[in-house]
Amino acid sequence: MMMCSRLCPSLPRLLLLRLMGTGTSKTVAVKQPDLLSASLAFEDPSAFRVKSLGELLRALGIFRLCSFPVLVNNSGKLMSVARTLLGRRGFSLLLRPTVYAQFVAGENESEISQSMEKLSMLGLRPMLAVPIEEDLGESTGEKRYDDNMEAMLECVQISHSKAWSKDPMMQLKITALISPELCVKLTTLMAEQPYDLNLLVRAMDGESINFPGLDDREVAHFLCSLQRLNKIAEASVNKVRVLVDAEYTYMNPALSLVTMAMMKKFNKDGTWIWNTYQCYLKESRSLLLEALHLSNNEGFCLGVKLVRGAYMDKERKLAEKEGRQDPVHQCWEDTNDSYNSSLDVMLEAISQKPERYRIIVATHNEESVRRAAKRMEELGIDNDGGSVCFGQLLGMCDHVSLTLAKEGYAVYKSVPYGSVDDTLPYLVRRAQENRTVLQGIRKERDLLRQELYRRLSLRRGS
Ligand SMILES: Cc1cc2nc3c(=O)[nH]c(=O)nc-3n(C[C@H](O)[C@H](O)[C@H](O)COP(=O)(O)OP(=O)(O)OC[C@H]3O[C@@H](n4cnc5c(N)ncnc54)[C@H](O)[C@@H]3O)c2cc1C
Repeated sequence: MMMCSRLCPSLPRLLLLRLMGTGTSKTVAVKQPDLLSASLAFEDPSAFRVKSLGELLRALGIFRLCSFPVLVNNSGKLMSVARTLLGRRGFSLLLRPTVYAQFVAGENESEISQSMEKLSMLGLRPMLAVPIEEDLGESTGEKRYDDNMEAMLECVQISHSKAWSKDPMMQLKITALISPELCVKLTTLMAEQPYDLNLLVRAMDGESINFPGLDDREVAHFLCSLQRLNKIAEASVNKVRVLVDAEYTYMNPALSLVTMAMMKKFNKDGTWIWNTYQCYLKESRSLLLEALHLSNNEGFCLGVKLVRGAYMDKERKLAEKEGRQDPVHQCWEDTNDSYNSSLDVMLEAISQKPERYRIIVATHNEESVRRAAKRMEELGIDNDGGSVCFGQLLGMCDHVSLTLAKEGYAVYKSVPYGSVDDTLPYLVRRAQENRTVLQGIRKERDLLRQELYRRLSLRRGS
């Protein structure tokens, strides 16, 4: 199933493949590959000199705990038991200086400001994320979605108002603004009949469109939701780049549909709205090629967040339960090949039209990062020219982020914020989806330890 075929079924794909395959690319050798491998070996503990002693100890302690699979796999249950035993206040006192401080920016504007200033001093750029999302069966009313929109508008304002970084970005979860049930229904309808992007653009402009296949209540909710998305996009255009998250395959086509409509309306002269491509999906490369094609045909700029994908276990379980083919690649190596191949496609496209395409290489994987940097050099793409940047989660793989920043690349940290209660489900989900990364974080722990010993021996020496 290809999402964009549902949006625009008659696209001549061959043209795009030719565009991707035969274009002349600028091939400029800037640095020797050996020098690049050395500078991006991610083995230099000096990257951690900018961290305070408390931050080093906290990171070491948390990563040690995360190395026990039983703790990560049962983090949800453990947190809820701790919350019951300690009470809300006690639990918050335990979490705030530890897990929360490691992975969350803070609760109010002043705490967030402090965290952002710290990141900015380290040469890293914040990409704020409001941790609100819904899955099936968790739908809330229109009022709640309006409140979520206000939270997103505030996020646009916080991202823009302070000069924390040039070119601010934020993440957006569509399921905070449209009910997951409607997204699933749209996804099902799109499999039979593609939706015209123009209809959605007209609805965003305030026209009362009667979307085929939806009943009156669903149409009313869809129109309100498109208005909410329109408001957020209007507030962010020319100020903050909005990166729409990818979620589950049973609703991703609907999420992409509205994202593409936003791109069509707001990305005429710049890449303000971005979509996410999950390379663990077997269909991810075709989805990306179709998106490139659509952007070419419809005349809008395309921003791509390239990730491996966060919902593997649930996707697999669901496919098995429903007797469908597993949508996820069979093994990590296949996902990796898919990531590399999509990365190559995007970098090639960027080298030809840097003003039209942008990518954030959103991964903690050192090899992927090195590969991207190497291809950028081969294709003559500027480290900090704006069209390619890197992304990691706050509190994770700082040795990768800090080294990249030191080498002059644009690096964003995905930064959630909110109260302990509001961010708890996010933290649990992130721990589980990144369990392989967290458990394999030995190198970061070694580097943290080396920096700690260096400081202790300095103290002893003085
Ligand atoms: C800035 C940022 C934004 C993100 N936004 C999103 C988003 O919008 N949507 C989303 O889904 N995720 C998102 N993620 C999470 C991302 O998809 C990954 O879960 C996470 O980054 C771990 O992948 P990695 O490349 O960093 O690490 P790696 O360790 O290289 O890869 C781990 C990933 O490989 C894949 N994998 C692991 N085992 C297998 C297997 N047996 N078979 C097939 N594939 C396998 C899984 O996707 C797993 O998460 C985001 C991550 C970052 C850093």
